Amino acid sequence: MSKNSERRGGSKDSVGAYAVQCRECSKWRLIPSKEEFETIRQNFIEDPWFCHKKPGVSHGDPGDLEYDKTRDLGY
Ligand SMILES: [Zn+2]
Repeated sequence: MSKNSERRGGSKDSVGAYAVQCRECSKWRLIPSKEEFETIRQNFIEDPWFCHKKPGVSHGDPGDLEYDKTRDLGY
């Protein structure tokens, strides 16, 4: 369990983190590099992303990010 939660607003896209959402279980997984992330994004329609595309990860693993809970970053 991680208690290292950074839920304070202000860091929208300056953290250098990239994440994609699994098409099947809707969990967010961090993508290590921008290049990989952009490749995934470009192919997302034809080639949806699934957890198992990340080594050692499956749908049963907890997501890297919890966008569902922190979606309302209004400010
Ligand atoms: Zn999944």
